[in-house]
Amino acid sequence: MIEFDLSDRQRQLHDALTNLGHSIIRPQTLAWDRAHAVPDEFYRNFMRMAAAFGGAKESARFLGGEDPEDAAAQPARDPKKQSQANRTAAIASEVFGWADASILLGLPGPGLGGPPVRSSGTSEQKKRFFGIFNDMLDSELQWGAYGLTEPGAGSDVAAIRTSCVKDGGAWILNGRKCFITNGGRAAWTVIFATVDPSLGRAGQRAFVVEKGTPGFSVGKLEEKMGLRASETAELVLEDCRVPGENLLGGEEAYRTKEGFLTAMKTFDTTRPLVAAMACGIGRAAFEYAQQFVRDHYVLSRPVPRYALIADKLARIGRRLEAARLLVYRATYLADLGEPNAREASMAKAYAGQAATAACIEAVEICGAHGSLAEDHSLLDKWFRDIKVFDIFEGTGNIQRVVISKRIVAGLKSF
Ligand SMILES: Cc1cc2nc3c(=O)[nH]c(=O)nc-3n(C[C@H](O)[C@H](O)[C@H](O)COP(=O)(O)OP(=O)(O)OC[C@H]3O[C@@H](n4cnc5c(N)ncnc54)[C@H](O)[C@@H]3O)c2cc1C
Repeated sequence: MIEFDLSDRQRQLHDALTNLGHSIIRPQTLAWDRAHAVPDEFYRNFMRMAAAFGGAKESARFLGGEDPEDAAAQPARDPKKQSQANRTAAIASEVFGWADASILLGLPGPGLGGPPVRSSGTSEQKKRFFGIFNDMLDSELQWGAYGLTEPGAGSDVAAIRTSCVKDGGAWILNGRKCFITNGGRAAWTVIFATVDPSLGRAGQRAFVVEKGTPGFSVGKLEEKMGLRASETAELVLEDCRVPGENLLGGEEAYRTKEGFLTAMKTFDTTRPLVAAMACGIGRAAFEYAQQFVRDHYVLSRPVPRYALIADKLARIGRRLEAARLLVYRATYLADLGEPNAREASMAKAYAGQAATAACIEAVEICGAHGSLAEDHSLLDKWFRDIKVFDIFEGTGNIQRVVISKRIVAGLKSF
């Protein structure tokens, strides 16, 4: 049975992150946005806080480091023994979105590279690639990344052209990846390549390519409209020789279409979290607009304009609440280990639209104040940040395609 109340632990996490947002993040978020970076010092302090909050193991797990036993564990199918890891991550993601979404995207840990290694890596690969995140408090900060998108292949992931050719016990990779979150600083990146583009999905392979591998380099770092404190990089592979043991899941895994499925499995767990972040940005704009209305309007006065503003507030609140419920549904299924592609896409598509509308309408409600530039108003930042939530992890259009395909497939069974 889906549970709407937060557990005591989730409530504590929610409150601790909200306090952090109020006291540390919000006062610095515009400066970090201008500097195009969140300082490492913030992340170190955050990790200390996380360790104090949850103990070393829980904090390591939150940051993506895992011991092999945990990493090998499958989600429970028995609802009574159900983990709430995805739900808890969604609760945290919403608060990060509310405070500053760039922080979560830049959080040290495997990031988007984590899900494919977790779902398809061998035990040895999980141990090797997750192991580097376990001791970050006492050593260098580390990141992982996920390299799927190419200049000619974004939504159409089956069209990737980065090639991989077997050479003895190794593979030679050639190609370019673009818009890779944390790509410039990642210790390793899951790179998707193809043995033969004409085979489509069946020809795809996923490799963990480590920083420093000859032939693997960072191209330009993108200047973005929003989420500017999050690093987005181009990656270049030129005759890059990757050891055979870095082929994710080993050769056996590719007797079927596993390479492509690895990419898709990632989205089923990450799309609801991206949707949760969008809810957080929408909530931030909503709260800002409510405060503005509190300070500037008396909505009980019978002025038609005020009735319209009250209606706008009601609409923003209603949509954001519906988006959050879709997130909870998608993470509930993920925690059960049940298929959730349709629900994950519904949450992502709807939350992106609801939060974008919240940001636009909040600007409208605030009138001229809403048009102030970045140094004066967080609204400007949220307005810029939210756009990406309808683009990455699959655009809104692609989510709608996924949903409609599944609905139409259901019709065929009648
Ligand atoms: C900030 C940021 C971070 C990112 N991080 C990563 C990352 O870490 N790793 C990674 O691999 N990628 C990453 N991406 C890339 C992102 O996933 C792609 O930008 C996204 O998949 C869209 O691809 P595209 O930009 O090539 O647009 P296109 O696929 O060219 O789409 C252009 C337009 O056409 C529409 N469209 C395309 N196909 C269809 C269709 N079949 N039906 C209807 N409409 C369609 C789209 O909805 C869109 O409106 C990131 C992007 C950004 C902006």
